Amino acid sequence: MTSATAPALPFARPIIGKAEKQAVLDVLNGPILVHGPRAKVFEADFARWTGAPHAISVSSCTAAMHLVWFCLGYGPGDEVIVPAQTHTATAHAVELTGATPVFVDAEPHTGNLDLTRLEAAITPRTRAICVVHFLGEPVAMERVTEIAGRHGLFVMEDCALAIGTRRNGLHAGLMGDAGCFSFYPVKHMTTAEGGMILVKDPVLADKLTRQKAFGVDRSHGERTVPGSYDVTLLGFNYRMNELEAAMGSVQVTRLDDFLARRRDNFAALAAGLAQVSGLSVLPASQGANQSSYYCLQAVLAPELLAHRPAIIAAINAAGVGTSIYYPRPVPMMSYYRQKYGFTDGDFPVASWISSGSISLPVGPHLSPADMDRIAAAVTEAMRAVVG
Ligand SMILES: *Cc1c(COP(=O)(O)O)cnc(C)c1O
Repeated sequence: MTSATAPALPFARPIIGKAEKQAVLDVLNGPILVHGPRAKVFEADFARWTGAPHAISVSSCTAAMHLVWFCLGYGPGDEVIVPAQTHTATAHAVELTGATPVFVDAEPHTGNLDLTRLEAAITPRTRAICVVHFLGEPVAMERVTEIAGRHGLFVMEDCALAIGTRRNGLHAGLMGDAGCFSFYPVKHMTTAEGGMILVKDPVLADKLTRQKAFGVDRSHGERTVPGSYDVTLLGFNYRMNELEAAMGSVQVTRLDDFLARRRDNFAALAAGLAQVSGLSVLPASQGANQSSYYCLQAVLAPELLAHRPAIIAAINAAGVGTSIYYPRPVPMMSYYRQKYGFTDGDFPVASWISSGSISLPVGPHLSPADMDRIAAAVTEAMRAVVG
């Protein structure tokens, strides 16, 4: 059994203040828990902050991605290209429709989908490309959209780790055809559970809005006679509730501050680890190519991989929380491995990142002074274990 004691410097901790608590209480004190005005307000807030023409709130990022593929009508016989190095939700969202996720390996410098391998994965069955801004580092979307345009493919951005990710002035989620976001507690902002879809096409936005709520033809507010509606489409119950939306509207106002603190923490920690040999740090770009600084991803040199459990144990023992993004490439998870017959060595770069990574915290719950402690803990762990 492992101890449940939280480390002094945890990998992530949601920051929920008085304003969030008051906003949730206000909802609880009122008559409307679901289907109300707050989800609409949060959609407008998030659209304004990102610069999106349309934002649709949903119950999670997984729901967001599944809803988009479902809405586009994908099913058995269709293929969607996804990165091997991602959260399993990216692939599950495709798999749930009956379509086939086609995995592409990562490129070693950023962990993002290797764009030099993208075109070779396209077949006559390919309908879409889904990219993930891995740990918030932007994908070179102009290359993705150029290839997608030539082949007539839809482009989704899985932006679960990409709030604050921008490229040439555009926020992540606005460079392709749809962007899907997560407000799960460890992400850049939280609504406990929750998600958002950004799209540019108003027709798609309208269809997504209806299909997230049973496929009814008019929303609660649009009904002239209460209880009167028709069902014109197949749909889910993937709505965000009013408690979540109320939290979200407050959290959006704090995003600029949260992101500035992540940036300062990342810079401090990267500087503190610069002299440690045997570790490489995946870059977090700044400027026209802007990272969201989800975490600092340290990756062990290939000859040190066997030492990772001991190194992580030593870092944790010093009171520093860590994570692993992600523990295995998705096609190496048992479900996909067995279903599609993948074998060791199929995704060498994603496998190296998975087996070598130690993800370190830079979240706004920590300060630059904490980063000095984390750098010292990592330096000492490497010295003690590797020598
Ligand atoms: C967290 C995460 C998801 C899933 O988000 P939920 O809101 O929990 O469904 C999907 N994709 C990536 C890349 C993630 O990191």
